[in-house]
Amino acid sequence: MKRILLYEPRYKNKYPPLGLMKLSSYHKTLGDEVIFVKGNIKEVYLKQLSVYLVDRFTKIENDIIPETILDNVFYYLKTGRTIYLEAIENNVGFFFPTIESWLRKAFRDARKNKIIDDLKWDRIYVTTLFTFYWDITISSIKELKPYIKNSSNMFVGGVMASVLSEEIENITGVQVVNGLLTDSKRIGLTTNDNIDLVTPDYSILHQISYTYPEWDSYITYATRGCIRKCKFCAVPIIEPDYVSYIDIKKTVKEIDSKYYIRRKLLLLDNNVLASPFFKDIINDIIEVGFFRGAKLKQKTKLYSFYLLLKKGTNSFEYSVALWKEILNFVKQLNLSNKKIASDILDKYFKTDNFVPNSFSLIQCFEELDRNFDIRKITYKKRTVDFNQGIDSRLCNEENMRLLSKIAIQPLRIAFDHWSLRDIYINAIRLSAKYKIRNLSNYLLYNFEDKPEDLWNRLELNIKLCEEFDLIIYSFPMRYSPINDEQKLYQTRKYIGKNWNRKYIRAIQLILNSTKGKVGRNRSFFERAFGKNISEFFEILHMPDSYILLRDIAEKEGLTDNWRSLYREIKEEDPEIIGYIENYDLSLIPDKILITYKDFFNHYYCKYDDLLSIKLNEGRYRKSS
Ligand code: SF4
Repeated sequence: MKRILLYEPRYKNKYPPLGLMKLSSYHKTLGDEVIFVKGNIKEVYLKQLSVYLVDRFTKIENDIIPETILDNVFYYLKTGRTIYLEAIENNVGFFFPTIESWLRKAFRDARKNKIIDDLKWDRIYVTTLFTFYWDITISSIKELKPYIKNSSNMFVGGVMASVLSEEIENITGVQVVNGLLTDSKRIGLTTNDNIDLVTPDYSILHQISYTYPEWDSYITYATRGCIRKCKFCAVPIIEPDYVSYIDIKKTVKEIDSKYYIRRKLLLLDNNVLASPFFKDIINDIIEVGFFRGAKLKQKTKLYSFYLLLKKGTNSFEYSVALWKEILNFVKQLNLSNKKIASDILDKYFKTDNFVPNSFSLIQCFEELDRNFDIRKITYKKRTVDFNQGIDSRLCNEENMRLLSKIAIQPLRIAFDHWSLRDIYINAIRLSAKYKIRNLSNYLLYNFEDKPEDLWNRLELNIKLCEEFDLIIYSFPMRYSPINDEQKLYQTRKYIGKNWNRKYIRAIQLILNSTKGKVGRNRSFFERAFGKNISEFFEILHMPDSYILLRDIAEKEGLTDNWRSLYREIKEEDPEIIGYIENYDLSLIPDKILITYKDFFNHYYCKYDDLLSIKLNEGRYRKSS
């Protein structure tokens, strides 16, 4: 049995790492022990080291009860504080001096990143995502290197690794596996299995504290690759061949039988409408229970994890999951019930940091259930989401009719450029005709488009909502190169040829208040983005603090004052406006600053200045 570490850097992401989940399933079938870590490898190592050391202590002193010292051993290794040694001393006897010397050495070694050979992993797999997570990804890979037994068994894969394989290998010295893992030989195994087709192991997600927003989804593909080669897109690099049909039925059924039954079906297909088997794909979706109007009879997580733990597979993962759910359940009880539940927990759970054994967890659940009746069932609406969007150029009567037969919500239709508007409008008309009312789209900007193209597309969506009584959410998405010579991909500082730093910042600030999306409310849209293109450009030039704290700046008369100066200067000396677009006041010559000081003074007004106006009004003060 090999020890396998699956690792994802500590960035926030929506989707769980499918590649690692497939590797987990695969290694488990080989009889290996798999652990999944997101971010804090040191913490995980120290926990493993604590268990390892306590096991050794019990060999020299039989009377030690591991649960009585585990937490303190862990805290000591983490902090080096002697109070934890004293607490350990209270629970061990004659051999304490030996144990203390082992602990002190272990603490020193851990500080220096000297990893105990027995606890090194046989294989480490690191996943990567966007290229702008460059820094955190590279530092994570470097941090992991002392934890591998043999560096030739450490691999990096995923999106960023596929796009920047050479750069990553040069900087970290770790092998990159780019593209899809269709052959296990590529990771040095003697088998030649297609790991990309393995059903992902959803149970490993319970091993970490991070909750992926899409945790309640089956995440899979009915096709791979794309028939097109858009310049801004990484798909042609990562998935160069178009695979027109993948049977999702087997995957969904396997997930249902082994893991928690999911409410959503999230299909990450890049261009599903290009498939000649689209009708079969829709039939598969219907067959696995995602027909229009479908509802799921779903047990609570607490109850489901209890049943899964009783089944016996993935017992470590479901022990962690049930443990977390029990603690969450107790947290939300009222005071008197919390007291009863805490007494039950104290009977079964002996440490704060280490997962109780499955027997204790099952007993604990059953005793809680006798007191609180926790075997709940709920009914939830099921939804299907082709999350990468469908290609408006391929929408027609037949495929829209087919889409209307499944629980699609939302239907995402790509609208990457204003020049596609007629095709896009046709796709929206067809959606309305087939009563697909919840729509959404990503609007690419900062590529070869102009700022007015973004406003036009947003406004068109509002018009279409009004005309067809639809709900369209638009998600403006800033273009960042996936790879470029100046290495701007590492920092997300790329500026498209028709954009500038001020405009980009202004769009970010507007989207800040809308949580990144724009809905169907016209008055809201017009206030945020302007009633017309001229107002839109005015907002793009507005001081940042006036955009972010619009109400305060307007109430104080600052916006009106700024606006009249802006209009006057734009009319008489339009080149002065260019200084704002550079987004760096220090580059403006003194002479200009002095001549137009009333205008430029507005740009020195910071968020805090405006907030303090608000605070002085007392509106945010706590009542005494
Ligand atoms: S159609 Fe979509 S998935 Fe295909 S290459 Fe263009 S952007 Fe990428």
